[in-house]
Order: sequence, then structure tokens, then C-alpha cells
Amino acid sequence: ANQLPRPHRRRVLTVANQKGGVGKTTSAVNLAAALAVHGLKTLVVDLDPQGNASTALNVDHRSGTPSVYEVLLGEVSLADAAAVSEQSPNLYCVPATIDLAGAEIELVSMSARESRLKEALTSEAIDQIGVDYIFIDCPPSLGLLTVNAMVAAQEVLIPIQCEYYALEGLGQLLSNIDLVQRHLNPELAVSTILLTMYDGRTKLADQVTNEVRNHFGDTVLKTVIPRSVKVSEAPGYGQTVLAYDPGSRGAMSYMDAAREIAERGAKGSS
Ligand code: ADP
Ligand code: MG
Repeated sequence: ANQLPRPHRRRVLTVANQKGGVGKTTSAVNLAAALAVHGLKTLVVDLDPQGNASTALNVDHRSGTPSVYEVLLGEVSLADAAAVSEQSPNLYCVPATIDLAGAEIELVSMSARESRLKEALTSEAIDQIGVDYIFIDCPPSLGLLTVNAMVAAQEVLIPIQCEYYALEGLGQLLSNIDLVQRHLNPELAVSTILLTMYDGRTKLADQVTNEVRNHFGDTVLKTVIPRSVKVSEAPGYGQTVLAYDPGSRGAMSYMDAAREIAERGAKGSS
């Protein structure tokens, strides 16, 4: 594979959609793995107490493991919580343990409650790893964890499932992004929309695709992720689809999507 451009400065993308099951985690881990294949150092921050991204990358996330929870509390540095994946020496993950489930409430009474993840990301420790890309995998809610992710990022990546009600709730997500942008992080922008779980056999999938493209224009990646059994099987083996079946359509489509993201960033839109 030919090289992808390295960004001039670290890109931090928050993968958000308060709807569950739209492909946030799948997209975060597979895009990160695709960039790592091209030699770009990439970190996935698992910000969902379910720990699905940690599972997919086969990173230990039993309760008590240094995780994003301790990072938010300021007890552990991000670099100390980051584990290298088995898949690639370029791919790191800060896991989420079940302890994170309490954080949404615990954060409320903490100082700088919205910017704790940002603080952790800007620390010298993370500069030591020298990552090019950070993907923050959000929980399916718009609470303080997701706000932390939005404050810590420059970009929001929204996965949209090619299904009924795909656009439902998107208005709420966009107005939350707008609020964060106005009050907490002026730099934040929706840079990328990724259509996922596309099933070419249904008319509906095309209707949704057209509707999303009409509405969001060039923000939507040209690459669409097909619905594929390989993609859904891979996490069961503690692998991304790129490792599980590199030649599959799912793997290729995530490679294409990652290339688009990298090339867009290089044009200076980030
Ligand atoms: P979220 O993080 O938004 O809740 P996930 O990424 O966990 O969503 O995806 C939800 C479910 O759909 C998971 O079981 C996942 O394996 C499956 N899935 C995601 N993308 C695809 C795809 N392209 N093809 C088939 N199954 C998929
Ligand atoms: Mg998820």
C-alpha cells in the first residue's frame, strides 16, 4: 500500500452519535487500524464503559486495569494507561473498564469537569508517544463523557447507519456540538460523516445515503461501509476486520475511508 500523508499536527477525532449500534466503535477501531497499517501512529481512547473498543483491540480492561477512568480522575497519565495492541506496534488503546460507568455522575462535582480528557491529551506524556491520530470512541449518550470527548478534539466524526430513523436524533447531536463549539472548544467542527452498514439490496439504503449526502454534502465520505458478516465477527476474535480478514470488503472499505480522512486532513481542512 502506498503511504498516507502524515498530518502536520496531531488530529483528534471524536466518534460520536448518541444512538447505539450505528458503528461508532467499529469505525473507531477499524479506521485507527487502517491508519496504523500505513505506519501512522494511532491511539484509540475507549470512552464507553462497555469497553467494546478495548475488546475489539484485545486490550485488557478488567476492573482495576489503568484505564481512561483513572486518566479522567487525574490518577494516571494517558501514556501510562495506553497499551500497545497486538495488531500493530503503531496502534495503541487506552481501555475503558466498568469503573467508567460511575464517571458520568462523579465528574459532575469535579473541577474542570468538561476538560479533563483534554488536559490528559495535552500533557507531555502523550507527546512522548508521538501519535498522529487519536480516535475517541464515545458512549451512546450526550452526557459529560461525550462532552469531554468534544472538548478534547478538533473534529467530530459521525457514523450514520443506512437504516430507518438514520437522521433521527442528529439534530440534537449537532446542537450539542454547536454548544460545545460556542462555549468550550471554538475549534471543534464536524469534519466527517461516515455511512455504515450499507446494504445494497435495499432501496432504503440508497434513500438514506442520498438524503444524508444532500443534507451534509462533502462532509460525507465517498466511501460507504457495507454491511458485512466479517466486520461483525472480528471483535469476537479480539481483532479488527483488517487483521481478521484483510481482503474482505469490510476491511477494504475501512482502508478506503481512512485514506480519504488522511488525504482531506492533508489539504488543510483540519
Ligand atoms: P456503536 O459503537 O455505535 O454502538 P458498533 O460499532 O458497536 O456500534 O456496532 C453495532 C453492531 O453492529 C456491532 O455488533 C457490530 O459488530 C455491528 N456492525 C458494525 N458495523 C458493521 C458492518 N459494517 N457490517 C456488519 N455489522 C456491523
Ligand atoms: Mg460503541
